[in-house]
Amino acid sequence: MNAGKSTSLLQSNYNYNERGMNTLLLAPSVDTRYGAKKITSRIGLQADATAFSPDEDLYQFIKQELDKNSNIKCILLDEAQFITKKQVQQLAYVTDDFNIPVLAYGLRTDYMGEPFEASKYFLALADQLIELKTICHCGRKATMVLRVNDQGEIVRKGEQVAMGGNESYIPVCRKHFREGKL
Ligand SMILES: [Zn+2]
Repeated sequence: MNAGKSTSLLQSNYNYNERGMNTLLLAPSVDTRYGAKKITSRIGLQADATAFSPDEDLYQFIKQELDKNSNIKCILLDEAQFITKKQVQQLAYVTDDFNIPVLAYGLRTDYMGEPFEASKYFLALADQLIELKTICHCGRKATMVLRVNDQGEIVRKGEQVAMGGNESYIPVCRKHFREGKL
């Protein structure tokens, strides 16, 4: 994905660290493209993150980390679309109870045009939504994603999350999503 989400996350992380504050970087373990605990961006920034499973209670986990290190001033979550509804709620309660920002970076919709479960609940619960804009090949804002297999064909159905394959995901505008034009 070319929306620059990981780049933004790593930039925020850098800003906190530069000011002497610690951060907690999290990534759902379903995403193992770069190794379970590494967040990387196309422009070369990278940082270690804690990978967690769908069963992890993020509220309890973060609470423990904050107890261990009171200098953690921000929680940063990569690939936020892949967490569970319950985990989205847990993150909201973290900001309420521990007075700490949780910055979650993720996608709105999958390659079938359906919202991710987590993204629905982020929309419902987030204090603030910030759109990271990327553009389609036509110059319009890209709000959708096409899945393309290794033969360059557009894939319209299957699992929501394909792991370990050679698919790529191309951000496109809604019109070119409908038309299937790369
Ligand atoms: Zn377009």
